[in-house]
Amino acid sequence: MTDLATLAEKAGTTFILALFVDLNGKPCAKLVPVEAVQQLQTEGVGFAGYAVGSMGQEPKDPDLMVLPDPASFTPVPFIKEGLAIVHCDPHVGGKPWPFAPRVILKSMLARLQETQGLEAYVGAEVEYFLLRREADGTLVTADPGDNAARPCYDARGVTRMYEHLAAVSRAMNELGWGNYANDHEDGNGQFEQNFEYADALTTADRVVTLRYLISMLAEERGMVATFMPKPFSDRTGSGLHLHLSLWKDGESAFPDGDDTRGLGLSGTAYSFTAGILEHASALQAVLGPSVNSYKRTGAVATTSGASWAPSFPTYGGNDRTHFIRIPDHHRVELRGGDGSANPYLAIAATIGAGLDGIERDLDPGTVGGDNGTVRPPLPRTLIHAVEALEADPVVGAALDAASDGEHRVAAYFAEAKRAEFFAYHSRVTSWEIDHYLTAY
Ligand code: GLU
Ligand code: MG
Ligand code: MG
Repeated sequence: MTDLATLAEKAGTTFILALFVDLNGKPCAKLVPVEAVQQLQTEGVGFAGYAVGSMGQEPKDPDLMVLPDPASFTPVPFIKEGLAIVHCDPHVGGKPWPFAPRVILKSMLARLQETQGLEAYVGAEVEYFLLRREADGTLVTADPGDNAARPCYDARGVTRMYEHLAAVSRAMNELGWGNYANDHEDGNGQFEQNFEYADALTTADRVVTLRYLISMLAEERGMVATFMPKPFSDRTGSGLHLHLSLWKDGESAFPDGDDTRGLGLSGTAYSFTAGILEHASALQAVLGPSVNSYKRTGAVATTSGASWAPSFPTYGGNDRTHFIRIPDHHRVELRGGDGSANPYLAIAATIGAGLDGIERDLDPGTVGGDNGTVRPPLPRTLIHAVEALEADPVVGAALDAASDGEHRVAAYFAEAKRAEFFAYHSRVTSWEIDHYLTAY
């Protein structure tokens, strides 16, 4: 493996953002000058975990020492000249910290390899809204052409945001990520920018980097980019669809020309799909980990038509209303995740669920057509999802993938999300005033 100092020198790097995310997916970093690169590489750099938030630490606890993974070194001169990002793995007492999402995903990938000899490849679709702040502080859609009834793929919308979209696209291509499309999504002011799939860890790192790039480049143009799942009641939400495939010895284990169910998939692909469906309710706590997530799923229609977010744990062919869409025989597209999902945890939990399907040789049932008749609907609120997570040892074990037995990440995560739900639920909203103030 190439060392960080060599990579930094080659790229003309002067500062490195040593970056990791907490359980909520929030990027945290220290800016390290290249003069201290050797120290960063060997000792890492320290953080007070309690100050970060959801990292399973108290004020008295030892620092999280974050150690860079040189394979993730990403020069970002389009943000600041000489700047690079490196994704890091938090350690405590010299050992990988069980609450670190990147550590959790790595442990889950190692389990997949050890138990089945399989490697996961993932493509991620990042959707977001571009907003602008008015003089009075309110946020409005950045695109002034706000009134199209069906703005999906709107040519004028993408053209108005050209400078921003092109800057993000150029950045991705300079990094060799293979940006292949940029489009206007179904909600006014909503966009998606795609990059090629890669191994699961690389893609999770790229989702974090891409959210950072999109936010910073939007700010440069006086805009706010939001990945919040449902910023507007009447428009579609922002998903984080995950396209997953499993590979053995450099070959995909998904296509099977002899498949009689018509999707061209292997038994491995079907049982992996079945595992995801079986654990869908618990998975949603990770794929949609905010109170706002549940305003995206469960919504039937928006002003521009379908919401395209799933309500039931079903699977099918190219139909985008399914929880799992199977566009072709190379991959399955999991559509449950949204912009508040932590990509490391979302992928780790999904692989844990799918792996259970493979180990138990589960069957996903009939292809398509069963919306709502085969399995219960997806959880309607965050607290329903949290309760499902607490009742599901398989998804729990995926979050505990790096646990040493003493630190229980799944229980900690569920408790944090329960507190988040009740913090929200305790607020009196304008909806309640409208409905109840003079009703009695
Ligand atoms: N915005 C939709 C969602 O929340 C997805 C639309 C699409 O299929 O691209 O999942
Ligand atoms: Mg989309
Ligand atoms: Mg998609």
